Amino acid sequence: ATEKISVSDLSFYYSENRALTDISLSIPERCVTAFIGPSGCGKSTFLRCLNRMNDMIEGTRVEGKILLEGQDIYSSRTDIVTLRKRIGMVFQKSTPFPKSIFDNVSFGPKIAGIRKKKDLFEIVERSLQRSALWDEVKDRLSESALNLSGGQQQRLCIARALANDPDILLMDEPASALDPASTARIEDLIFELKEQYTIVIVTHNMQQAARVSDQAAFFYQGLLIESGATEELFTNP
Ligand code: ADP
Ligand code: ADP
Repeated sequence: ATEKISVSDLSFYYSENRALTDISLSIPERCVTAFIGPSGCGKSTFLRCLNRMNDMIEGTRVEGKILLEGQDIYSSRTDIVTLRKRIGMVFQKSTPFPKSIFDNVSFGPKIAGIRKKKDLFEIVERSLQRSALWDEVKDRLSESALNLSGGQQQRLCIARALANDPDILLMDEPASALDPASTARIEDLIFELKEQYTIVIVTHNMQQAARVSDQAAFFYQGLLIESGATEELFTNP
């Protein structure tokens, strides 16, 4: 597959504390890459380096390079707002805003300047269809998003990310707060979304990584200790 993101010799420091050391990894387009490893090994830190959420924290320092389609995202010329629109992010406990389902999904497009109700409705419908939530909520778009179940809320937050029309989705433990049925739905969804999006998922769940990913990267204490095709990593002893 075509390379989407190229990471070379990335190190990341929270003040004096080095959380990542010399990470190099190629992330292919329209595939699912899983970051795996125990709590505290640097998975979330790495994920947040990919959309520059991390270097906004005071006292942090980045070394090395991250290229997105050949462009250095840490270059002073990078427009962070544009970068964030291209890269959707979903968290373990993404919570909807205490507003209607419609308002949650149309929030990003409105900020981006889309005003016509018809245009917004189209984006909302398409995003909810892509996140496999449309059929469940199409008759209750003006209801509060907080009435939805945990699994539905998570899919709503995925729809909210998709509404900005990203090409990359970063997911930090997107299913670990959910019951098994909702987890399975999210995993199925990830499988469908990779046809259109480049996906990076953080998980500490090996079985989940084996189920959803094409490529896996194992971290330990800030080091990338192994990476490769999921098929090979999970079948060889
Ligand atoms: P997880 O292991 O699930 O990634 P953590 O409990 O390590 O979660 O971190 C939860 C939050 O606390 C994150 O936003 C993380 O950035 C922040 N955090 C973790 N360690 C520290 C630390 N040493 N100092 C300040 N914030 C931290
Ligand atoms: P993981 O996602 O694998 O649980 P993290 O990336 O959250 O790991 O954490 C990696 C290391 O960085 C840990 O030692 C953690 O305490 C530290 N860390 C994470 N977030 C912060 C933060 N905001 N400030 C300081 N240290 C942090």
